[in-house]
Amino acid sequence: MVQDLRSLDLSEMLQLMEELNEPAFRAKQLFAWVHNKEISSLDEASNLGKGLLEKLSQKVLISSLNIVKKQVSQDGTTKFLLALPDGNYIECVLMCYRGDRSKKRNTLCISTQVGCAMGCGFCATGKSGFTRNLTVGEILGQVYTVNNFLSQEKDGYKIGNVVYMGMGEPLLNYANVIKSVRLLNSKDGQNISMRRITISSCGIAPQIKKLADQKLDLVLAISLHAPTNELRSKIMPINHKYPLEKLKKACQYYNEVTKKRITFEYALIKDFNDQPQHSKELAQFLKGIHCHVNLIPINSVPGSSFTRPSKKRIYEFLREIKELGVEVSIREEKGTDIDAACGQLRGKVVN
Ligand code: SF4
Repeated sequence: MVQDLRSLDLSEMLQLMEELNEPAFRAKQLFAWVHNKEISSLDEASNLGKGLLEKLSQKVLISSLNIVKKQVSQDGTTKFLLALPDGNYIECVLMCYRGDRSKKRNTLCISTQVGCAMGCGFCATGKSGFTRNLTVGEILGQVYTVNNFLSQEKDGYKIGNVVYMGMGEPLLNYANVIKSVRLLNSKDGQNISMRRITISSCGIAPQIKKLADQKLDLVLAISLHAPTNELRSKIMPINHKYPLEKLKKACQYYNEVTKKRITFEYALIKDFNDQPQHSKELAQFLKGIHCHVNLIPINSVPGSSFTRPSKKRIYEFLREIKELGVEVSIREEKGTDIDAACGQLRGKVVN
């Protein structure tokens, strides 16, 4: 079977070179070409020599992703529609922050599955159902493709932050997601610090515990969105399987094992989860979890009747839970005008 080089780590490349009767240093060279220099074709690996390139081409390929469409928001956020080798589509979103020099950074929000089986009521991805998991190479390919775009069209800054918050539930593509995280973090690859990598989950309790046991220094974000089982089950079907009590236990286990705080995402929906009683219930649920809450005024999604509360109510909600001792902020929203914000990705060609 022909393997995708972007899905291979150094130990697998070493094994490949061994099979080809090549010295180990060749694996390191190949790794740098693939995961650091982000080549999209083997021919670009100029120092490997013609003979080795020929042998490699019998066994491996580089499955590159093609940019089918690019939409740029008024705030500069860019959404990419990417075609996968099998004809499926995914989306990823580039957010460029350009403050003073120390604050310049590019963040890429990436997808982990084609579609999603979780069916969250406020999310466009969930509406089209689940097709398949992405491979490691396809997850990383989003970063490499956008880096390539940045080197040609922007000011030379690469992606420095990666958030696994695009299409799909990352913890249900666990092995590929963790391998891709380790490759992004590899010092001979992208060398992106673990602290600059965020994995977001809708709350798959056993997988949260499994992630805790890896003791990675990354950021875990949980989509909470409602403070009671009754409300949460209305918008997040996963809550039937892993209700808040189970989720809370998994989060406390995560705190205990990793010593890291968790980020909770709370999409504020008018007349649904934005009332004073909800801020009290939210603070009550969060008691005993080391965490920070991001309030996200909900984004509109076609076919959904949810709307965001008034600005006044958003700030009141913020104050209410702050006064109850919760660390909280309102998340800066980007790309809403091009459907690139939270819950708006669809992975479809729309003209
Ligand atoms: S919010 Fe995340 S987990 Fe829920 S349906 Fe959308 S992509 Fe899936």
